[in-house]
Amino acid sequence: MSDICPRIEAVRIRIRRAALAAGRDPRGIALLAVGKTFPAEAIRAAHGCGQRVFGENYVDELVAKAATLADLDIEWHFIGQLQSNKTRKIAAVADWVHGIDRLSVAERLDRQRPTDRPPLQVCLQVNISGETSKAGVAPEALPALAHAVSALPRLRLRGLMALPAPSDDPRVQHAGFAAVRILRDALADDGLALDTLSMGMSGDLDAAVAEGATLVRVGTAVFGARKPRLPSP
Ligand SMILES: *Cc1c(COP(=O)(O)O)cnc(C)c1O
Repeated sequence: MSDICPRIEAVRIRIRRAALAAGRDPRGIALLAVGKTFPAEAIRAAHGCGQRVFGENYVDELVAKAATLADLDIEWHFIGQLQSNKTRKIAAVADWVHGIDRLSVAERLDRQRPTDRPPLQVCLQVNISGETSKAGVAPEALPALAHAVSALPRLRLRGLMALPAPSDDPRVQHAGFAAVRILRDALADDGLALDTLSMGMSGDLDAAVAEGATLVRVGTAVFGARKPRLPSP
């Protein structure tokens, strides 16, 4: 793991370069290091390079790593699909949840957030590619969901999260991220100001930063290539 600090530095340089090219202040973009499938010790090593914000996709993996690394000051973000039967664990350990696309899940998190913890910071996942199979609220349904979630006392609605279909074409990448920014701006016009755009990964973070991302979720470029999660039968 001795190469982790230069990898993180390289990602920070990419973020800075994309921000400056877009006329943005690089300090306005947070790096969320996505450690899914990597051991807790990899996260400890990244923490040793000054990284403090980490994301996980799987509930049980987040719970286990948070317990193993309880001695570290880490901000934990849950970025996966959250099923109703797992909301209690996430309400207890996460600082942020990015993938909310249903009011029922938000309401459960609101009820289950422990009273000794600050409100849970949340982003709503939007489905901008319009594929019915993909997670995320449809753009037409976003305003109603956003207003309902913003009224929940134990949650703090911070912004929008998007996971556009991967593309190697920068024009396609830009169009997808711009669509998310436009939705954010429409909510602001509607009286709901949100400060977070969670978008951009290892392959497309430059386009995301150019289109206004305030938080990029980066796994491979920080930790290296992932092995398949389950061995093939
Ligand atoms: C895995 C994952 C990432 C990081 O992806 P990389 O391409 O490895 O940077 C970001 N966001 C979500 C939702 C993910 O599942």
